[in-house]
Amino acid sequence: MDKLRELIEILSNEEVQARTLSARANQECKICGNPADTFHNLLAKIEYDLSIICEDCQQYYYLYQN
Ligand SMILES: [Zn+2]
Repeated sequence: MDKLRELIEILSNEEVQARTLSARANQECKICGNPADTFHNLLAKIEYDLSIICEDCQQYYYLYQN
């Protein structure tokens, strides 16, 4: 399964959607649940603020795709 399809399935998951607000409030990732308080650049932080997806998951799912 390619990563984009995998990401779409994760974002469609009701449990992931249900924990979006608490993840945002606790500065955690809504996908992996890890703390999302460290970012290597401003773009990664802005992306987190929009998506509530940590930098590791950003990189895994969509930043470095071919
Ligand atoms: Zn994550």
